[in-house]
Amino acid sequence: MNDPNCIFCKIIRKEIPAKIAFEDEEILAFHDISPQAPVHIVFIPKKHIVSLAETTNPDATLLGNILVRIQETAKTLGFSKKGYRVVNNTGTNGGQTVFHIHFHLLAERRLQWPPG
Ligand code: AMP
Ligand code: ZN
Repeated sequence: MNDPNCIFCKIIRKEIPAKIAFEDEEILAFHDISPQAPVHIVFIPKKHIVSLAETTNPDATLLGNILVRIQETAKTLGFSKKGYRVVNNTGTNGGQTVFHIHFHLLAERRLQWPPG
């Protein structure tokens, strides 16, 4: 369930400080240490899953719950109507640097497309 060396698992265990935005029994959200937008929150499952590529059908509910939590957070923080971006980087070509699956919520600036 938890990886002793994983930086996000350490945040879950409160061994590394983070500015927590949301927490329940299965999801943790915290502000990114290197924000790429005025609002940049990282949503993770408390279950250690390496990446989207490692997910299986039983993870579908958890993944869905994370997405719904992201939209609820956007609504609560007040940028739901202006819009926002949800990003999952998977593997090396996807730009993933922390190998505990996570979803970035980026908001409060006009984001470009395509991504770099
Ligand atoms: P990715 O590149 O998609 O794997 O995203 C990993 C994200 O985790 C990056 O945006 C980092 O800035 C962020 N990050 C890494 N370490 C921490 C930390 N200790 N606290 C908060 N965010 C972190
Ligand atoms: Zn982990």
